[in-house]
Amino acid sequence: MTDRYVVIGNPVGHSKSPWIHAEFARATGEDIEYGRLEPAPEGFDAAVDAFRTSGGRGANVTLPFKQAAFRYCAELSARARAAEAVNTLVLDRAAVYGDNTDGIGLVRDLQNNLGCALEGRRVLLLGAGGAAQGVVQPMLDAAVAALVVINRTAARAQALAARFPRIRGGGYDLLDDAVFDLVVNATAAGLVGELPPIPAQVFARGALAYDMVYGRDTPFLAFAREHGVRASDGTGMLVEQAAESFFIWRGMRPPTRAILSALRGG
Ligand code: NAP
Repeated sequence: MTDRYVVIGNPVGHSKSPWIHAEFARATGEDIEYGRLEPAPEGFDAAVDAFRTSGGRGANVTLPFKQAAFRYCAELSARARAAEAVNTLVLDRAAVYGDNTDGIGLVRDLQNNLGCALEGRRVLLLGAGGAAQGVVQPMLDAAVAALVVINRTAARAQALAARFPRIRGGGYDLLDDAVFDLVVNATAAGLVGELPPIPAQVFARGALAYDMVYGRDTPFLAFAREHGVRASDGTGMLVEQAAESFFIWRGMRPPTRAILSALRGG
């Protein structure tokens, strides 16, 4: 019988996950079906209960439900605990298990696809929402030399930084003379055509600018390129986080290069 998975979000119609997982299934020969679920904002638990009761094996979770998914799980991975958010649910065990693959997805895209080694690098993370929270522990695990978290609401960045050793957090005013090898934009600013207020001097020579927003040219990416800085959108993170979810569910790692290149229109 075909094993069933879904992505749960609201809205979720735009999600590329069904297409990506169908490609993974084709490449690996796994017999899975992957659809979409769009519960009302208060309807997350009931929707997952119903999907699980009907035999659903697992789910990805996107905005605005990653914290609801975190609360829903009876068991959590260390990285989901560190992120306080879940984007991958395993529903075919006695106890529902939650993981977070966003951070490792970003790290794999940086290291494997973009050739950006993280060990010993100075990293600036813009934003302190769900996506930023998921990235902190995997960045520390990758042995970055320094990690600074900056957010529009400075208190959120300070609170996030305080949960981890060795990282600093605050508002954009902290950036006056700081320099970084990697600047990750984990804010939603690009979705509304805005640029987080960063000075151009944050980019060290040879730095990489990475925007988690995918499929569009954001003001952040344009700003980086204008200052001669290499820039990448978040398409690779999207594909790599999906691959890690697939691995958690199916026990095998799907190839990602061809899918990434197809999504980029290459
Ligand atoms: P979220 O929890 O809603 O957090 C949004 C963050 O963006 C907050 O830190 C917020 O600051 C900041 N922000 C929003 N508008 C801003 C603006 N105009 N200027 C400066 N900062 C602004 O969202 P999220 O889950 O963290 O997601 C953030 C982005 O990452 C989204 O665009 C999402 O699509 C993307 N993402 C991509 C992937 C991928 O696989 N590529 C995975 C996850 C997320 P305040 O705290 O001050 O409101």
